[in-house]
This record gives sequence, C-alpha cells and structure tokens, in this order.
Amino acid sequence: MKADLLDVLRCPSCGGAYRQEDGRLTCGVCPPIPLQEDIPIFSPIPADLLPGEKRPRGPGLDTPWRAANERFLRRMAADATAGALVIDIGAGRGEFAALFARQRYLALDLYPYPEVDIVCDLMAVNPFVPGCADVVVLANTLEHVPSAAGFLGAVAPLLRPGGRLLVTVPFLVKIHQAPYDFARYTHYSLQSMGAQAGLVVEHLEGYYDPAFLMGESYRYTFFWALSRYPLGRRRILAAALAGLRLYQHGLGRLLGPGYVADPRQENHPAPVGYHIVYRKAG
Ligand SMILES: [Zn+2]
Repeated sequence: MKADLLDVLRCPSCGGAYRQEDGRLTCGVCPPIPLQEDIPIFSPIPADLLPGEKRPRGPGLDTPWRAANERFLRRMAADATAGALVIDIGAGRGEFAALFARQRYLALDLYPYPEVDIVCDLMAVNPFVPGCADVVVLANTLEHVPSAAGFLGAVAPLLRPGGRLLVTVPFLVKIHQAPYDFARYTHYSLQSMGAQAGLVVEHLEGYYDPAFLMGESYRYTFFWALSRYPLGRRRILAAALAGLRLYQHGLGRLLGPGYVADPRQENHPAPVGYHIVYRKAG
C-alpha cells in the first residue's frame, strides 16, 4: 500500500486514523477494511462490472479522443506543483498515471485492477480526509456514474480550497463499457453541475474532429446497419461504402487531425468531448 494513501484516509464512521494490521486496515474501533492484493476494498465490487483489458497505448494506437485527453492532461500535469497530491478517480488500468510522475499519485476505481491503490464507491462511502487532494482527475469517468451532479458533490470535499478538478468527458462518443454508461453532457450542464458542487470552471475546451466523426458514421453503417438489408441491396451498399471509405480516407488526410476550441462560441456545435478545469472555491 502506498504510504501517501494511508496519510489521506480516515475511518468514515469514527474519523479515526487507519493502521495496517493482519492484512487489513483498522481504526481500532469499527469493522476493519479488507485488503485484496494490498488494495483496501471500501465498497463491494459490482458483480456485473466487466474488468477492462490493458490495451497497448501510444502514438498511432490510441483513438483521437484519447490522444486529445492525453495532450490535455499532460499540459495540466506540467502545470501542477511537484509533490502535489493527485487522486485519479475511475483510473482503471492506470492509463494516465505516467503523466503524474512528478506528483504523488493515487488511483481509485470500483474494480481492483493491479494499477489501482484503493477500491471505493464515493457515492456510498468517503474515507478521505476532507481537503486532502490538490488535484482530482476524472478522465472519462463522469459518463459512467448514474448521477454526475451527485458524484461531483461527493468528489468536491476531497479537494483543498483552490484545488483543481481535471475532467475529460465524451459528448459524441458511442456507448461503451455497458451497462455502466449513463449519460452525455453539454458544457452548459457540466458548468451548472460543477457550480452546484462549489466548483468554478477555470478552463473549458471542446475537442473537435470532423474526420473522426465521418469515420464513426462509416464504421456505424458498415458494422452495424448493413446487416439489416436484404442480401442484394447489401452487396450494392457494401460496394458503395468501399468507395465512400476511400473518399473519406482522402478527405480525412486533407482535414488533418482534430483541434480544440472554445465551445462557448456558436460555431462549434459538435464536440467529440470536453476538457474542463474546475477550481474549488475558497
Ligand atoms: Zn472507525
């Protein structure tokens, strides 16, 4: 267990400090918290949660959206103070952990991946010392919680006053990690949900990628819609789609990679997703 973790936990029932004893965390008063492969398990692991595979990452391997997330978080990690405490909520297979090598980094998830430091459903239990975190990261996590407004309310107390919440959240991205995919939010909703939790938007950008969206339309048609048609028409459609694919490929090269822009301007109506920096008031 990371020493940094023990420092920022306290028993949610009695407020006492934890110590590690007989393979468990105990405050000496309340029922102890089990450790699984050295990971404290504060909430039951959902039985229907299918663990994600560890995928090879890097240039040319990531989706354009994830590559954009990485650029954004890399910038933010460079801005954050060395030694700052970072809690990555919904960290999964530790996709972005390496970006925070200069900081003290803790990974939280509902599933005990080897890359995770603590398993905890913050909507059910909050064992963190209030204000312990300088930075909280929600990288493509908000769409996977049933109530994002309630979740931001549960996350905000972890941040010290003036601390930052870094969010990446998709808008035009297909349903993924089913059945744990609950919502897509506009930046208006992200702004108002943050405000309810005492979080002020300090920076907001949309990620736009027309070539990616065209590719998604093609893939949707080819992989999912085509089989709906009778065989004769399917053959004609498949041939037409092959031509379209070539055309779209060339167009994609001309269009180039995606870009970030301020979504508050009316001429940017269709982001793939948003990158947000919230600052905790106070
Ligand atoms: Zn206790």
